[in-house]
Parts: sequence; C-alpha cells; structure tokens
Amino acid sequence: MKLHHQIFLAMILGGLAGWVTSEDTRILGIAVIEAYDLIGTLFINALKMLVVPLITTAIISGLINVGQGKNLGRLGAKTVLFYMSTSLIAILIGLLLVNLITPGIIDGEPARDLLGFAANTQDVLQKIEGRGAGEFTQILLQMLPPNLVQAAADGQMLGLIVFSLLFGFFLRTLAGAPGDTLRNMVEGFYEVMVSITMLIIRFAPLGVFGLIAATVTRTGLDALEPLLWFFFTVLAALFLHAFVVMPLLIRVLAQRSPWRHFQAMSPALMTAFSSASSAATLPLTMDCVQKRSGVSKRTASFVLPLGATVNMDGTALYECAAAIFIAQAYGLDLSFGMQFAIVFTALITSIGVASIPAASLVAITVILGIIGLPAEAIGLILVTDRILDMCRTAVNVWGDSVGAVLLARSEGEENVLQTPMRQLDGQRHAV
Ligand code: ASP
Repeated sequence: MKLHHQIFLAMILGGLAGWVTSEDTRILGIAVIEAYDLIGTLFINALKMLVVPLITTAIISGLINVGQGKNLGRLGAKTVLFYMSTSLIAILIGLLLVNLITPGIIDGEPARDLLGFAANTQDVLQKIEGRGAGEFTQILLQMLPPNLVQAAADGQMLGLIVFSLLFGFFLRTLAGAPGDTLRNMVEGFYEVMVSITMLIIRFAPLGVFGLIAATVTRTGLDALEPLLWFFFTVLAALFLHAFVVMPLLIRVLAQRSPWRHFQAMSPALMTAFSSASSAATLPLTMDCVQKRSGVSKRTASFVLPLGATVNMDGTALYECAAAIFIAQAYGLDLSFGMQFAIVFTALITSIGVASIPAASLVAITVILGIIGLPAEAIGLILVTDRILDMCRTAVNVWGDSVGAVLLARSEGEENVLQTPMRQLDGQRHAV
C-alpha cells in the first residue's frame, strides 16, 4: 500500500480508536491514552529532532546553490511578496466570512452567555506563554537572538533562519580550500538529514494513528456543538483559501495541475493535520515538494524553511476570524479602522508565532488587547481550538508548498509537477 494511503487509513483507525476509548480506558492496567500519547510523541519528537539541523543546512546549502547575489535578491523578494500577499488574501477571506455569517451573534443577541464555558482559561493562558512573538518589536528582537543555541532550543526559528541566511550568504563567496571544505560539509550534512527524514517518514502511519487517537479521546466531537457556527465559518474560509484561491494560483501563474500537486503533498498535509505543527511537518514538506512535486532543491530549501516559520495563511485567517468572533460574542461593534488594525496585526503576528500547536492563541490575545477585550475572553474559543488548529496547520503547509511551486516556475523550472504520480509511486524513494 502506498504511504499516503497508509497514513489516511491510520487517520481513520485513529479516529475510531479514539472514539471507542475514553481517558479512563485501561487495557491490562495500562491507560490506553498514554499508549496513544507515547506513539504520537515518539513520532513528533523524531521529526522535531531534525528541524534545527535540517533548517540550517537546507538554508545554507540552498543559498550556496542559488547563484549570484542578484538571483538571491530576486528569489528572496519574490518569496516575501508571495508570502505576504497570500496571507493577506487569507485574512480578508476570514474577515469577509466572519462578517457575513456573524457566528458570534445568535438570534440577534451576542453569544457570550451562551458560550460561557471559559472555565480553565488561566491554565491555558499560562500554557501558551512563550509560544512566539505577539508584537512587532518582539518579532524584530527574535530575528537577532543574543544566544543562537538558546533560540534554537526554545523553538524560536526566526533567529536561526537569519543566522543561516547570513552564514550561507558569506559561505558562497568564501574562496579556496576552507570554502570548498565547508561547502561540501554542509551539503553532506544536509543529505544525511534527508536520509534520516525518509526513515522517520516510514513511521508516519503509526505516529498519525497515535496523534489522532489521543486527540479524539480527549476532545471528542460533542465539544463542537455550541461553537458550530464559528467552527463552520473558519472551516468554510480555510476551504475557500485552500481549494479555490491556491489552486487558481497554481493553474494560472504556474500553469500546472493543482490536483497533481495536492496528491503529491498528501503525506505532508495529513501529517500537518494530525500533528498541528508545521515545524514538525517541515521534513516531510521538503521531501514531498522535491521528490513528488519536482521542485528543485535550490528553490525548496530556500522557500520552505522560511515558509514554515513566517508564512501561515491558515493561522492568519484564524486569528482574524477568532478575534472578530469574540468581539461579536461580547457585543462589540467594530469600526472599519479597528477591523483594519486587526487585519494588520493578524498579518504581522502570523509571521512571529511559532509553528507549534495552539500558537495562534497567543496572537489572538494580542489582538484582543488591541480591541480592548481582556485576554481571558479567549476562553470562548478554546473548545474548538485543537480541531481548527489541525485544519489551519494543514492550510499553512499547503500554502508553503504552493509558494515553492510558484516560485520554482517563476525561476523557469520546467520539471515541476510534470512526472505522473503513477510513475513516482513506482519508484522506491517516493514517499
Ligand atoms: N499550529 C499552527 C502551525 O504549526 C500554528 C497555529 O496556528 O497555532 O502551523
């Protein structure tokens, strides 16, 4: 069975397993949920273990291969432009739908009291501490961490990326034997990271099973009911962005088949969905984009690590929709100026938040502060957060991969999305 079919089956089995077990279920005295957690965590840890060495070596070796300074500047500018504009489109879709559907107003009344289950908000506020930058100045500060090792250990990738960009930039021009040795070493390091990634990917079905089973056991589906409208609004907006806007871009700008790219990305998308972490999914994203979508290493290794860290379409959309939903539920009427401020803040904070589960929540508290609502108001959306986190993370990864395809095509790469999937699936290395 092909790997993406295995992962899909694992998601269904995980869902079923989570549905029939509860947090108290024990088999032979062992709590089943602990077993699910163990399997899921082992898989995620294995992927996370790769993120720091993979990001650094990918960016540095990507830069070495990018060529002249002018090419680099051009690719960099296009990447930033693409990421900013697609995130903005995502936010505007969220803004439009949340204003049209008004999920925070039920039968003409603000839904605050109906939704009053903000019980353990304090715990959550504590938990989300340190999940990334909320404010603009903090993002700038993250870019130049005083201690690189600590930044990497804390999962603050922005500093690591800036450092790797600088390192790669100067390594390109380092002449003589030291330059050659170091360049070869980085290339070799990167290749080894890719091989380890492929080994870990083979365990994806098992990992995904554990992650989904644990989530379904904990959250269940009943939790969704009171927030159904909000849930539906976010889902519809994510759907529009991922399945209408992005495919249009692939079709029109890259002149390739969106469906073919979707098929190619399915293992990474399912892992993003199950893990709710685009950082942990990065090794898979890199593998799928290069081996299955045919994007060159040069483009992929520059565009994707950056994308996983700064480009989060689903997150940006969610931040905007969630903040306006909460304002509606509290009966606030938001002026045009305020909505503009929300859009801007969602755009900036989506760059700064970490690519880990529930990271959006910290950005939402920042936006709530701007609206003038207490951070505790976030309690209203906690119940649905995990499931929506899974969906928005998949959209985040999808957005990065579409960026890689478009930028590769704009750089004149002909091989992108050309090999038929059937042929790829026959190859041994294919995911
Ligand atoms: N979990 C998301 C990600 O890793 C970030 C978020 O929206 O919370 O991409």
